[in-house]
Amino acid sequence: MRGRGGNVSEIFVSFQGEGLHAGRRHLFVRLGGCPLRCRYCDTPESLVPVPECRILGPDGERRRANPFTPSALEAEVQALVAVAPPLAALAVTGGEPLAQTDFLAAWLGMRAGGLPVLLETAGILPARLARLLPEVAIVSLDLKCPSNTGERARWDEHAACLEAAVAAGRDVYVKMPVDEGTLAEEVEHGARLVAAVHPAVPLFLTPLTLPHGTDFTISAATLERLHAVASRRHPDVRVLPQLHKVLGIL
Ligand code: SF4
Repeated sequence: MRGRGGNVSEIFVSFQGEGLHAGRRHLFVRLGGCPLRCRYCDTPESLVPVPECRILGPDGERRRANPFTPSALEAEVQALVAVAPPLAALAVTGGEPLAQTDFLAAWLGMRAGGLPVLLETAGILPARLARLLPEVAIVSLDLKCPSNTGERARWDEHAACLEAAVAAGRDVYVKMPVDEGTLAEEVEHGARLVAAVHPAVPLFLTPLTLPHGTDFTISAATLERLHAVASRRHPDVRVLPQLHKVLGIL
C-alpha cells in the first residue's frame, strides 16, 4: 500500500464487544480488505477495499472517499476523540488490518501519544505483526479452526504471531470462534498452542452467531463440551459472547 494510502471502511465509537477488554469504550478504525474468507464472517462489507469510508459521529453518519493519507486518518480520529465520551483504546480492526501494514506503520508511527492501540488480527501474518508491534499496546489475536472457517489450518502462523506479541511484552489475549460444527480436536490443539507459548494468555471461546443476527450457531451443551476440552490443555479458558451483538450495537 506504500504511496497509495489506506483503505478504511468505518470509523466509529462503541463498546468493545470481545475479549479481555469487552465493555470498554473504544474508537474503532476498520480497514478494508482481508485475505481470508471465513464462513462465519460478520464483516463481509470489509473483505475487499471499499470506495468510501463510513464515519459515525455524534452528528450522525457521513462518507469520505478512500484512500486516506495517514494524516487525514489521524485528523478524523482526533476529531472523534474530541467529542466522544472517555475512551479506553483505539481499536484497529478489519477485515485484516495487517493486509495494509505499510499504511498502518506510517499512520501509527506518526501518532504522538494518545490512546493505546489495540490491534485485532486473525494472526496469520507474523512478519507483518512483528513490524507493527512497536506501535501497538494490546494484541487481540484469533485462532481460526478450519472446521468452522472453511479455510486451511494456520496453526504455525498463529503460534508465530502469539510468540512475537508475548516476546514483545504486549497485553495479549486470544479468541477462538466456535460453532456447532467446530471440531473438538481443533479446539484442543488451539488451547495447547496458547498454553505452550504462555499459559497466562487468556483464551476466549467466542460462540458464533448468524452473520447479521443474534441467534447462536452453537448450543450451550456443545459450548460446555468445547470449554471442557480446551480447559484440559489451558488454565484460563473463558466463554464470552460478542457483547455488541447482544446489545444490538456496532
Ligand atoms: S479474518 Fe475476520 S474479516 Fe477476514 S474473513 Fe475471517 S472473520 Fe472475516
